[in-house]
Amino acid sequence: MIKDGDGMQARKATDLMRVTILGCTGGVAAELRTTCLMLDEDVLVDAGTGAGDLTVEQMLRIDTVFLTHAHLDHVALLPMLADMIGPRRTFPLRVHALPETIAVLRQHVFNFRLWPDYTILPSPQRPYIVLEPITVGQTLERGGKRITTLPVRHAVPAVAYRFDSGGASFVFSGDTTYHEPFWDALNAIANLRYLMIEATFLDDNTAAATAAGHMRPELLARGLRRLDERLRGRMRLLITHMEPGNEETIMAQIQATGIGLEPERLHRGQVFEF
Ligand SMILES: [Zn+2]
Ligand SMILES: [Zn+2]
Repeated sequence: MIKDGDGMQARKATDLMRVTILGCTGGVAAELRTTCLMLDEDVLVDAGTGAGDLTVEQMLRIDTVFLTHAHLDHVALLPMLADMIGPRRTFPLRVHALPETIAVLRQHVFNFRLWPDYTILPSPQRPYIVLEPITVGQTLERGGKRITTLPVRHAVPAVAYRFDSGGASFVFSGDTTYHEPFWDALNAIANLRYLMIEATFLDDNTAAATAAGHMRPELLARGLRRLDERLRGRMRLLITHMEPGNEETIMAQIQATGIGLEPERLHRGQVFEF
C-alpha cells in the first residue's frame, strides 16, 4: 500500500469522491478529446488530450496520475503536463502505472529525444516526475478513499481502475476487449454504482476489435450478462472511447443486444459524485 506523500492533500474519510470527464473519445477532432479523468482535484486517470483543457492552476493541483496503459491516446499530454507543472512547484508529479507501461515511457518518451528525461531533471534528487509501478489487484489508499487496479486484456499490458469512496464504487475499464477476470472482479464489488467502459468498434468490425484488443457491442453484452442481477439493477453504464463518427450506431447496437441496461454515452465535462 502506498501512503500519501509530498504534496498530497489528506482528505476526510466522509468526503464524497468526484470524477470529472475531461476526455472520452476514441480519436481527436474539434471538441473531441482522448481519455482523461480527473478524480477530485488532485488526481488524473490517464493523460490523453482532455488534460489540455485544465487551467494552469488546475494543473498545479494535480499530484498523481494513474495510467491504464501506454498507448498515446492515454499518455499524450503527460510529458507536457510534467513540463508545465515541474518548474512551478516544489514536489514532483507522481505517476502510477504497470511496469511495462513505465518501461515504454522511459524508453520512448522521457529519453532526451522525444522529450527531456524529467525523471532525472532538473536533478535526480528533485525530478519533475516520479514513475511508480503498480500491480494488478493492488489498492492505493488516499485519505480514506481507495483506488484498486483490476485486470483487463488489451493489445498492450493494461489495467482498469476502481475508485471506492466507501459508499459507492466507480469502475473505469480503460481499453480492453472481453476478459472474464474483469467481469468476475466486478461481481465482487458490492457497492458498484458506475461502470465506465469502452466500446470502440462497431460489431461489423470484428477483426479490428480482436486485433486491437477493444470492445464492440456484442462483446460488451457478453460481459454484462455475466454481471450479477443485484449489480445490474442499480448500476449506471457509461460508454466511452467510441470511434469518432460511429457513436450513434455503436450506442444503437449496444441497446439492440437486449442487455436490459440503459447505456449512456459519456460526454466531456460530465461530473459524477459518489
Ligand atoms: Zn489502447
Ligand atoms: Zn485508447
